[in-house]
Amino acid sequence: MWPAKRMGESKEECVSSYKERKREAGSGRGFEVLPSTIDSGKPMAEIRDTVILGSGCAGLTAALYTARAGLKPLVLEGHEPGGQLSITTLVENFPGWPEGIQGPELIGNMKKQAARFGAEYQHAHLEGVEAGAHPIKLRTSAGELQTRTLIVASGASARWLGLPSEQALIGHGVSSCATCDGFFFRDKDIAVIGGGDSAMEEAIFLSRFATKVTLLHRRNAFRASKIMLERAMAHPKIELRTNTVVEEVLGVDEKEVKGLRLRDVKSGEQDELKVSGMFLGIGHVPNTKAFVGQIDLDDEGYIKTTNNVFTTRNGAVVPAVFACGDVQDRRYRQAITAAGSGCMAALEVEKYLEEHGH
Ligand code: NAP
Repeated sequence: MWPAKRMGESKEECVSSYKERKREAGSGRGFEVLPSTIDSGKPMAEIRDTVILGSGCAGLTAALYTARAGLKPLVLEGHEPGGQLSITTLVENFPGWPEGIQGPELIGNMKKQAARFGAEYQHAHLEGVEAGAHPIKLRTSAGELQTRTLIVASGASARWLGLPSEQALIGHGVSSCATCDGFFFRDKDIAVIGGGDSAMEEAIFLSRFATKVTLLHRRNAFRASKIMLERAMAHPKIELRTNTVVEEVLGVDEKEVKGLRLRDVKSGEQDELKVSGMFLGIGHVPNTKAFVGQIDLDDEGYIKTTNNVFTTRNGAVVPAVFACGDVQDRRYRQAITAAGSGCMAALEVEKYLEEHGH
């Protein structure tokens, strides 16, 4: 029986306890959680040159570049500090690491690197924004902020199926974070949902603990890269089942996942799969709630950018507000492309401030 109270923790707690567990396990080589460098709760009257929303790959690269330009960026770390890399495992496709690097270690390095040049960090949630104001006004859980420029790098959060039974069992066998919660499923049968790289990665990771991992995908074609799909297919503990959707997560009354009621989308036939856990790997939803009506978003809520990192409102560029990383990228969504767009946003901030005499 896994300690359910730890599974029920919020994503933020989950991430930090995952880091604790990584440290306990001695595998978090070199990863260190840097403390906030700003006192939270203290309202700031000063006008910052730049504020960066988000501390994933895009935000931290923007922080590095703006810090090196002497702009003393303030990075607001929201509910998922470090972004998606901080809850992933081995990153094998970030150039410069021939053996790969653990996601948390990579993000920890980026954070330290930007801090070395004067980047500051604050844990705060964005509650409201006046993106068209000069200076831009931000209302956060830690007080009000004013800034001449804003870099939105708030990323995207895990998507859920939206079934009532799934929502009822989050933290009791339903999870969107294999690296946080996989540990609790030693010698259990698990299902992973999705057909992309995240699902493959989760299934492969979970196979370390689980007796068996059944990967369920709603179609019979996969979005996952060939290499990841082949690894999952070749794994003796992983079974792939296609054209299958989850109708219900069983175990709501017992307050722990007992199984899944599945439906074959071709035949309509239903059956039950006995599992103790269900992990979602079905993509992400952009974190843009505060920007609705402030800047242009697409149908799924991603920020629409023009010329790479410029934001718009009703099609016209919103000066001083730039967006980078997954919050504006539904096509590439890689750590390296997020970092690249973070660099672009930072260079545009520098240019904007120079042109406006700051
Ligand atoms: P993704 O590529 O968008 O795949 C999401 C999967 O979830 C799709 O197969 C989709 O099915 C399925 N899905 C979406 N909504 C669903 C729903 N309501 N019910 C059932 N299934 C649903 O997302 P991702 O896997 O998170 O990957 C995102 C990006 O990150 C990709 O570019 C990927 O390459 C990258 N990534 C890379 C690595 C790596 O290289 N190690 C690891 C993770 C992610 P359909 O196919 O039917 O739409």
